Amino acid sequence: MNHDNSHALFQQALDLMPGGVNSPVRAFKSVGGEPFFAKRAEGAYLIDVDGNRYVDYIGSWGPMIAGHAHPKVIAAVDAVMRDGLSFGVPNALEVTMAQTITRLVPSCEMVRMVNSGTEATLSAIRLARGATGRNRIVKFEGCYHGHGDSFLVKAGSGMLTLGVPNSPGVPKTLADLTLTLPYNDFEAATRLFDDLGGDIAGVIVEPIVGNANCIVPAEGYLQHLRELCSKHGAILIFDEVMTGFRVALGGAQALYGVTPDLTTFGKIIGGGMPVGAYGGRRDLMRQIAPSGPIYQAGTLSGNPVAMAAGLATLELIQAPGFYENLEARTRLLRDGLQQAADAAGVAFTTTGVCAMFGLYFREGPINGYADAMASDGARFNRFFHGMLQRGVYFAPSAFEAGFLSSMHGETEIAHTLAAAREVFADIAAG
Ligand code: PMP
Repeated sequence: MNHDNSHALFQQALDLMPGGVNSPVRAFKSVGGEPFFAKRAEGAYLIDVDGNRYVDYIGSWGPMIAGHAHPKVIAAVDAVMRDGLSFGVPNALEVTMAQTITRLVPSCEMVRMVNSGTEATLSAIRLARGATGRNRIVKFEGCYHGHGDSFLVKAGSGMLTLGVPNSPGVPKTLADLTLTLPYNDFEAATRLFDDLGGDIAGVIVEPIVGNANCIVPAEGYLQHLRELCSKHGAILIFDEVMTGFRVALGGAQALYGVTPDLTTFGKIIGGGMPVGAYGGRRDLMRQIAPSGPIYQAGTLSGNPVAMAAGLATLELIQAPGFYENLEARTRLLRDGLQQAADAAGVAFTTTGVCAMFGLYFREGPINGYADAMASDGARFNRFFHGMLQRGVYFAPSAFEAGFLSSMHGETEIAHTLAAAREVFADIAAG
């Protein structure tokens, strides 16, 4: 594969942007080598500036659940943008978006649109603190909730990839207000609430952890967090930026039957445009400005073009059988990879829920963060590059979940598995 054009762009970018990128994990720091630059994307494929095609298992880190450049999404954007790109006054699409989210996720009685997942989570903890009059928040090791100061404590995603789970520049006094717990540890959560329950404003959790590879909740764990929060008067926040509209139409909360007080969204609700949202109990949401005193605002929030892309995507995912098909295809991929690894004698396991999956270079089961961290990183890196050379793009980090879209068909999966058989054999050969 020729990467001349990507290489030339990356050399320029390195002088102009920190690490040559606008978001850290894109830089291939942990897997080594250089990123490729996208020229365009269609369906299940990314096409780079050198004309190479890749089956894409990241989908812009989650939003592209209906595939890249879906004609219905593009048509919706095209129609709306001709009427103007931003108004700074309310527009009807914002109402439709709020109706859609509140209908599909009933725990969200009201919502507020923002421009990224980070903004959504920052706003949600401000609301939890403002509503309870308490300062401490609880998060989980390896969970990532965007780059807000309070969240860069034992954080996942790029923080794990780069090996810097805490960040310089976060005031210690603020970081000290963030308490961390091991995910899936029932006892640790009970003890923390017994000790400090009266000081805890809220608990924020990825209901399925997708930023430390992919860790599925133990049976009853989310319910346990729900009960602790209710008992101690803390706000339970599900960060469904990744899982929302990804693992089921109603998100992880529908799948596990647990009702949070607040939920954060991003990714899919923007259909590829920069969008986030937070929503929840009406009595809480009413405390947000201008109906209440807790301040949060945004010049471009509810942007009509972004709403159009998001609404077109939310329309597509409501088609009958949409999630069943996605789940079946993801199963095909996971089972096929497992068989290829087993045939080559490479220790390997997968996790996942519906169209979200994790790959581990170790035996299962994966019950928590420590299990996830024990995956063989060197083997993952060989796998990543071997697959990339064969036109298959998995996340350039052992700590990120992967995603399928509805455009990943049997052809793409067969191509992926043929490549994987060769790569696992290479890995086994040492
Ligand atoms: N929460 C979760 C669970 C995420 O996965 C991410 C991003 N991957 C964020 C929050 C932050 O979203 P954004 O990058 O849009 O700020």
